[in-house]
Amino acid sequence: MRFRERVVLITGGASGIGLAAAKLFAQEGASVVLADINQAAGEAALSQVQESGAPARFVSVDITNAASVAAMVETTLAEFGRIDSLFHSAGIFEPGRLTDVDERHWDRQININLKGTFLVLKGVIPVMVAHGGGSIVTTASTAGLTAFPDNPVYIASKAGVLMLSKALARDYGEQSVRINVICPGPVDSPMLMQALAKSSDAAQARQMLEDRTLLKRLATPEEIARVVLFLASDDASYVNGEHILIDAGKLTMNK
Ligand code: NAD
Repeated sequence: MRFRERVVLITGGASGIGLAAAKLFAQEGASVVLADINQAAGEAALSQVQESGAPARFVSVDITNAASVAAMVETTLAEFGRIDSLFHSAGIFEPGRLTDVDERHWDRQININLKGTFLVLKGVIPVMVAHGGGSIVTTASTAGLTAFPDNPVYIASKAGVLMLSKALARDYGEQSVRINVICPGPVDSPMLMQALAKSSDAAQARQMLEDRTLLKRLATPEEIARVVLFLASDDASYVNGEHILIDAGKLTMNK
């Protein structure tokens, strides 16, 4: 029960990796706030998280909007009094080759993935500092470290998340705020399944992704979430400003 008496805020908590983490945090004793733009999915996720008996609530947020992020933080504080850990999972993936996409494609992914990370951490870090510290896990991707084909804007957004997180770890370590970054490979989550569904042969596209990993399969959201819990917990009390690849060794072996 590593999170007993701890308050954990999870953006993107309605789905995929965020939801898997919310369930694990709740099982380990945390009070959990699920924050997401998708209200219906958020309410459904909340009832799953509450099954463990943990105190939990859902907050509707658009992480691209500073006022909405401020309201998310205020609601969390009003309900639970502090934020011990933040898992910032919310994000989008919209593939597209430079010559096939427009400015809106850039604005949407940079706004949600990169500006959203800026706003959420800008909202949460002062609260943690005021309460003597905390732990933050942000979400980049293997795509933040290497250039996969036909995804320049997603790759740029996730490279930005990686270095923004490291820069903030440098600035706030002194005030006992630890910030680490996860870089997942392909995960069997609604995000990736929706992207695969748009390809001409979804089964073949999935098989190709699986074949490229050393374990010959996609990750489950829980496999990613277990690493998130480690980084957020006191087990990682001396791990800071670090990024960790969770990709079955694929990127390491390709280098
Ligand atoms: P998902 O689509 O299942 O969950 C993402 C959640 O973010 C959704 O519930 C969505 O509603 C929420 N969201 C989107 N825009 C938002 C906004 N403006 N405000 C608030 N919430 C918003 O996806 P997932 O696979 O769980 O992905 C989680 C994170 O992991 C993302 O940042 C993604 O880029 C990253 N990631 C995913 C994979 C993968 O293969 N699935 C791989 C590497 C990194």
